[in-house]
Amino acid sequence: MTSFSDDPLMDEAAITDGDIQGVVDVGGVKPGDNVACLVKGMLRAIGEDPEREGLAKTPFRVDQAMKALTKGYAKKVEDVVNDAIFTSDNDDIVLVKDIDIFSLCEHHLLPFYGKAHIAYIPDGKVIGISKLPRIAEIFARRLQIQEQLTVEIANAVEQVVRPRGVAVIIECAHMCMVMRGIQKVGSTTVTRSLLGAFKEDPALRNDLARMIHGEAV
Ligand SMILES: [Zn+2]
Repeated sequence: MTSFSDDPLMDEAAITDGDIQGVVDVGGVKPGDNVACLVKGMLRAIGEDPEREGLAKTPFRVDQAMKALTKGYAKKVEDVVNDAIFTSDNDDIVLVKDIDIFSLCEHHLLPFYGKAHIAYIPDGKVIGISKLPRIAEIFARRLQIQEQLTVEIANAVEQVVRPRGVAVIIECAHMCMVMRGIQKVGSTTVTRSLLGAFKEDPALRNDLARMIHGEAV
C-alpha cells in the first residue's frame, strides 16, 4: 500500500536544510510583479523549451492565473461585507451549504477543491447570505492548507456577525494527494471549525448535520 512517504511529491525527508538554504534567492521580486520570467526559468529547469510555440505564451498565462487564484490577498472582509448586516429576531441555525471552494495548497501550489458549509446562530443580527460565499472566497484565493482555511472563515464570520455560534465544515479533494495514484482518487479531506454554541452543544451539531444532509429537522 502506498504511504505518504513513498511518494516523492510528499517526501519531506528528502528536503534538507541545506537544500532550502541553497535555493537561489530572487530577492528583487516584489508583490505584484509579473512572474513570467520565473515561470520561464521553471520550464527550462524541467527540461522544456520555453521558446517552442505551445509554451511561448505560457509564462504570461501562468502569471495571470496565479494572480487570479491568489486575489484574496488584496481583499478585506469588511469591504466584502459592506455593511450588509441586518437586525433580525431569528435565533436559530442559518446555513449556507455546498459553497464551491477552489484553493491552492501552500505546500505544492496544487489545487484543492470541494464544498464548504457555513452556519451560524444569530444573536440579533444576520448577514446577507450572499456574503458568506464571498467571505469564503477571500480566504480560499490565497495559498492555504484546508485546516487553516476552515478556521479563518469561521473567525471572520464570528467577527462580523457576532453570533451565538459559528460552524464551518469543508470537504475537499487535494490534487497533491489525488494525483499520486489511483488509490487516492476518491479521497476527500473533511475539516471543521466550531465556535460558541456549536462547540458547546452536541444537539446543535446534530441538527446542523441533518440540515447539511437535506433533512428537515
Ligand atoms: Zn499539497
